[in-house]
Amino acid sequence: MTTRNGMSQFFTSLSAFINSDAEDHFPLKFFTFLRDHDVLKFNLPAKNIRTILILNLLREVGRKHLSGGRILEGHFNVVQLIKAFASSVQLSRWSEDLAEQKLFGVWNTQGTDGVEITDQGNGTFRLTGCKTFCSGADFIDRPLITAQWTDSPRKGWQMIILSGEKARLVKSDPEFWHPLGMKGSVSYRMNFTGILISGEDLLGQPGDYYRQPLFSGGAIRFAAVQLGGAEAILTEAQRVLKLSNRTGHPFQQSRIAEMTFLVETGRLWLTKAGSLADDSFVNDSGSAKLVAYANMTRTVIERICLKVMQLAEKSIGSQAFMQVSPLEQLHRDLTTYLRQPGPDAVLTSIGAYAFDQTDMINLWNLKDE
Ligand SMILES: Cc1cc2nc3c(=O)[nH]c(=O)nc-3n(C[C@H](O)[C@H](O)[C@H](O)COP(=O)(O)OP(=O)(O)OC[C@H]3O[C@@H](n4cnc5c(N)ncnc54)[C@H](O)[C@@H]3O)c2cc1C
Repeated sequence: MTTRNGMSQFFTSLSAFINSDAEDHFPLKFFTFLRDHDVLKFNLPAKNIRTILILNLLREVGRKHLSGGRILEGHFNVVQLIKAFASSVQLSRWSEDLAEQKLFGVWNTQGTDGVEITDQGNGTFRLTGCKTFCSGADFIDRPLITAQWTDSPRKGWQMIILSGEKARLVKSDPEFWHPLGMKGSVSYRMNFTGILISGEDLLGQPGDYYRQPLFSGGAIRFAAVQLGGAEAILTEAQRVLKLSNRTGHPFQQSRIAEMTFLVETGRLWLTKAGSLADDSFVNDSGSAKLVAYANMTRTVIERICLKVMQLAEKSIGSQAFMQVSPLEQLHRDLTTYLRQPGPDAVLTSIGAYAFDQTDMINLWNLKDE
């Protein structure tokens, strides 16, 4: 799968795959298909997969199934965190789970009753509280959650990966999840109160989850999935316009032209962001630059997706909002998935980074440029 040939064969099968999972259920058949093609073990910690290959895979999966792409993105995020912070014993345990294609996910978002971790003093730790927007919900075999330490010399946010038997004790609340789109991501509220864990479940040190560039740099993964959504809209708009013989009008031609170069622009951003990510992991001094570039990529791709949706809807007209059209669900899914945390803060942080630079022209060069 990791060879050029293997990937292109997979992408051909993916495009032929017919989604038959109900929109508001976990995409079980889609994940069986992904597992059959070894996608969940694509980037095992021991492999050194180039970032652009991961982004391309996420983009292609997102193009087929935005909710599936969201869940897969979380899985790949955990692999990165395991690679960066696991002890050698944990690394071999979780690598085995990954090789068996157990599904991992990251649940960090929470409301006022967020998760706390208390040291019981006997080698066990007690969890209380809930997480929200937990994509994959009960279908995640190994959830990675963050929890705030209480009553302990340790301070800050602790990553925890729940083993299979502990994950089964988490109580899901589907009532939390009545969104416009992305219903299939089953991003429920999950309650961890009363679960006891041990030291072997703790990943890294308090605060590691927010360590840069991993934390903000990861935004390029969800941007890749989102761009896949814009690609699906472009493909469908072109198909419908051809079918209805509406391709001759110059306004239709100019809108499809704009959608085409917007999507290509997104791909170019991902390619450069992937190269910078690989540069930066080799050399940590590029961290602030990578964070700023990931933030730019995320912001540009959000704008691209919004514009592509608008152009496609103008081109197709009201038919784009009828449930018989794939565009109707794509519109709802992408609109929902584009809402990611703190977009204003992301934009102003790019500005602050730019003001700190002395050379504005070669700001984003790769090492070998
Ligand atoms: C489909 C889907 C799946 C998800 N899955 C997961 C998951 O598996 N795990 C997980 O952890 N999370 C998940 N999330 C949650 C996601 O990571 C974000 O937390 C969530 O989408 C926040 O979106 P928001 O628009 O409410 O963001 P917000 O950050 O609340 O932004 C809303 C607006 O408020 C502004 N704003 C933010 N903070 C402030 C402030 N302090 N003062 C003034 N303005 C402010 C923002 O700039 C923006 O304009 C998921 C979300 C979605 C939509």
